[in-house]
Amino acid sequence: MGGFHGTSAPEGKVAVVTGGGSGMGAATSLRLAREGRAVAVLDIDADGAETVAERIVAAGGKALPVAADISNRDQVRAALARVRADLGPVTILVNNAAVENFCPLGGLDDATWDRLMAVNLKGCFIVTQEVLPDMEAAGWGRVVNISSFGAQTGAPDMAAYTASKGGVIALTRSLAVELGRKGITVNSVSPGFIDTPMARRAIDGNLFPVPFEQIVATYPIPRLGRAEEVAAACCFFASEDAGYVTGQVLGVNGGTAF
Ligand code: NAP
Repeated sequence: MGGFHGTSAPEGKVAVVTGGGSGMGAATSLRLAREGRAVAVLDIDADGAETVAERIVAAGGKALPVAADISNRDQVRAALARVRADLGPVTILVNNAAVENFCPLGGLDDATWDRLMAVNLKGCFIVTQEVLPDMEAAGWGRVVNISSFGAQTGAPDMAAYTASKGGVIALTRSLAVELGRKGITVNSVSPGFIDTPMARRAIDGNLFPVPFEQIVATYPIPRLGRAEEVAAACCFFASEDAGYVTGQVLGVNGGTAF
């Protein structure tokens, strides 16, 4: 391997999936583990992380649940110290954790705006920066950032959320340019409307202007997406096969945004 980066990963590949305790993060954690990665399931919801890690171990995989708020650098550092001690250096990172908010612009307050930016955008910055030394030392790394089709199409009452996700796309492109020479790829999966606890909370809370069935009926593939379909895209970007793919935004959205 030597300095010839990008074609094969070092021994003992370790993945961190933020928000791994629910929805797409859980599906991605499970799939990465099936593909032979040791997976740190990092989530602010300790119980969710624990449950997913138990499922991975029960299926014969290797996993560690770690609780942390990705917007808090000290918590992220402490969590990654545990990951390194238990699993080894981190060479795959899926920045998936996020929070959403529905509010017309006139009622959007500073605290909500700041929290969405802190978790959805700054959280990606913090976790990526904190794992960077491991990837640099390995001369190999895969960063996958989960954005959102709303950042590409716009979405009513979601200005803070979509702005934070637009930032995630810009961060992806800049880090891809900056880190390519180090053997580190940085890509984004941009999900459409995916059936997860986050989406179900919005559906059950009647937060969309029309029933969700009407929304998905307009899509070229007229249904909600599945978490596993997003996980598949994440695992491609995280794979050895994707060594010449960087700075890309892959929509997994039923054809509703390009
Ligand atoms: P989800 O079911 O709500 O899962 C997100 C997980 O992240 C939850 O366990 C959540 O914990 C955790 N989390 C929230 N804030 C955190 C923090 N500060 N630090 C660490 N963990 C935190 O959401 P999902 O639908 O799977 O979403 C996954 C990603 O896809 C997100 O980036 C989301 O924005 C994006 N996305 C979703 C859709 C969709 O239709 N579902 C569409 C486009 C993009 P709590 O539950 O305790 O908050």
